[in-house]
Amino acid sequence: MELNLLTIDAARSAVQERTTTSVALVQSFYARIQKEDAQIGAYLTLCKERAVEQAERMDRLAAEGKPLPPLGGVPVAIKDVMCTRGVRTTAGSKILGNFIPPYDCTAVARLEAAGAVVLGKLNCDEFAMGSSTENSAFHPVRNPRDTSRVPGGSSGGSAAAVAADMAVVTLGSDTGGSIRQPASFCGVVGLMPTYGRVSRYGLIAFASSLDHIGPLARNVKDAAIVLRTIAGRDPMDSTSAEVPVPDYVAELEKPIRGLKIGVAKEYFAEGLDSEVRQAVEKAIQKLAQLDCEIVSVSLPHTEYAIPTYYIVATAEASANLARFDGVRYGYRAKNARTLSEMYRRSRDEGFGAEVKRRIMLGTYALSAGYYDAYYLKAQKVRTLLAQDFDQAFKKVDAIVTPTCPTPAFKLGEKVNDPLAMYLADIYTVTADLAGIPGMSIPCGETREKLPIGLQILGKHFDEATILRLAHSYEQAVKN
Ligand code: GLN
Repeated sequence: MELNLLTIDAARSAVQERTTTSVALVQSFYARIQKEDAQIGAYLTLCKERAVEQAERMDRLAAEGKPLPPLGGVPVAIKDVMCTRGVRTTAGSKILGNFIPPYDCTAVARLEAAGAVVLGKLNCDEFAMGSSTENSAFHPVRNPRDTSRVPGGSSGGSAAAVAADMAVVTLGSDTGGSIRQPASFCGVVGLMPTYGRVSRYGLIAFASSLDHIGPLARNVKDAAIVLRTIAGRDPMDSTSAEVPVPDYVAELEKPIRGLKIGVAKEYFAEGLDSEVRQAVEKAIQKLAQLDCEIVSVSLPHTEYAIPTYYIVATAEASANLARFDGVRYGYRAKNARTLSEMYRRSRDEGFGAEVKRRIMLGTYALSAGYYDAYYLKAQKVRTLLAQDFDQAFKKVDAIVTPTCPTPAFKLGEKVNDPLAMYLADIYTVTADLAGIPGMSIPCGETREKLPIGLQILGKHFDEATILRLAHSYEQAVKN
């Protein structure tokens, strides 16, 4: 079986019709991981026993002639910020280097309940802080399309595993762009749902008001199948929304004719690579040929998005990361003489440089005397950014932009310049701040064959429209 052509439906039907078994499929993926991943570095932990057990369960169903669930027998993998019962979950950090959770993240549990086979846990930036996966405490990930380059981040392992055919689909998390940006860099599809659409229960928190779980996949339909599986209210997460989940897959086939597509000049500003601009403009023309109406919209507060994001995200991170104190779980420094020395040294030895930088920035922004000037002001600007989108979405059904200002950069290129690294998220952080859904789909490549991503943003809880638009575009360029 050609692993590189395998979609969810193809894998499931092969297992259902017994042209292969789920166990055989799992073994071919592990063989591929064994062969390729030394070079790429996408996986941190494999969970072979758990995978084979689930695969056998699916094979038994198929052998009895029973219909498989929607992801029956399909090999998937999970970003290592999502808890997996009995399987090491590190968040890419040394401080959780030997953490074995006693429970499953809801999104993972829902995938498995739908028959998916979890192969293992994927590398990422430490606590999902980064844009290149170079902040992993273990090792960086390389971009399968050009191994001298980064796969993006923080879900670099999730994007690279799909791009290198080491899983059919994966889960990632997006706080400021971490699903869409690596999807764009690796040439795969990445979807960030509306805030509250997918439960965050069992997701190791970075910035709670910005964190989202979503799929990375080879095509739009697979992303729709995964979203349909993991979305919906979960009593374990009070911020998960009580909003009905449409059948995203059935919605894909509805026509897109007449949809109004917004284009904002603020997303085509200085710093945008010319090849990226050309590819995105060509994609917009294609949407016009598909009888969408292109409408110009304005998102005037976009220029404040990066500073706003880095205040809100670091403030929330500083609070969330206070729990890692060496007492309850995770790394504990040896031979400390007092309790406070144990706290201090555990955190000093356990956290990496970027995480410490963010804890310090966030603590400062929240401190008495500075709270109003930074945190409170950032929250106000966040509201203005959300209002920009509310206004724009009165006129249009979706907005298209480049996902990133540049294609994948070289490993090491930005590690010593955190500000340059932060700017890689310039087109993605706005959707997280506004709570709206967004996705990245491939829309071409540069002369050097580096993938370029088209970002499609939608109204709150209207993933169906952006998926439909993405699917129609994907089918049109394929033909
Ligand atoms: N690159 C951004 C950051 O470093 C976004 C990360 C994310 O979405 N998890 O915070």
